[in-house]
Amino acid sequence: MPHYLRILIITSLIATLSLPINPEAAAQSVTGLVAQALDNPDFDWNSIRCDKVILYYQAGTFAGRHRQALLRSAELAISEVLVFMNESEYNRILHVFYVGSREEMNTLVGRTYTGLATWTASGVFLVSNPEWRSFDKHEITHVLTMGMWGAPDSTSRWMVEGVAIYNDGWCREYSVDEIAAELLSQNKLPPLERLFANFRELGEINAGIYAASFIGFIRETYGADKVYDLWKNGTADIERILDSSTDQLAKSWKSYLLNEVGDDFDVDLEAINDKGCG
Ligand SMILES: [Zn+2]
Repeated sequence: MPHYLRILIITSLIATLSLPINPEAAAQSVTGLVAQALDNPDFDWNSIRCDKVILYYQAGTFAGRHRQALLRSAELAISEVLVFMNESEYNRILHVFYVGSREEMNTLVGRTYTGLATWTASGVFLVSNPEWRSFDKHEITHVLTMGMWGAPDSTSRWMVEGVAIYNDGWCREYSVDEIAAELLSQNKLPPLERLFANFRELGEINAGIYAASFIGFIRETYGADKVYDLWKNGTADIERILDSSTDQLAKSWKSYLLNEVGDDFDVDLEAINDKGCG
């Protein structure tokens, strides 16, 4: 091998070995579901990492082939969610696990979910295959909001999924606001009071999209600090926090939506309800 080539290879090896790992983050030990996943004998993990993310995948899988893109996607998700939250830094390592199917997810975490977040152990578990896009940003939003802000006030539990779906941003090929506009035009969204009080009874898609679009409106109109205020102090206090009546908020959200989406949208709700958002 020519000498210059050898030097090149050694240099690039050194560059790979000396990735800029944050020393504070590197000192953190793995716990909880993350530790269990790493110890799970049914999985032979490979990993790649950047400063704040370690991505685990199995050789020869769809996620394995896309690992560089998935690593960048996770890294970008962290920085975008921090902007949403108006926070400057997430000071833990995020562990991102990829499997290829719901069955594998069941083997890994005992649930057939397509995504799961553990904010206590700073990890997310995701299904990715050619037929299913992973909701990495959704689960990463759970880790950052619950991990950094703590659990919401009991009257703001509707926000937990809302912030995650808003940050993920889309479902199938449609934006959150396009689907909200479609649901609204079909009179499928009840008054805001019902969203706040009966989130779980509105149906997963309707409730999630409604919450996400309304949170986007609050974030864009009033700023991140008001989203946090509402999260911590409770939706029971929304009229004081946003200095507006609930009726007025509903009207303002509808005109925000019209402004965001216009009237030229065509959303296949049936496909969403049949196949989900992946
Ligand atoms: Zn979620």
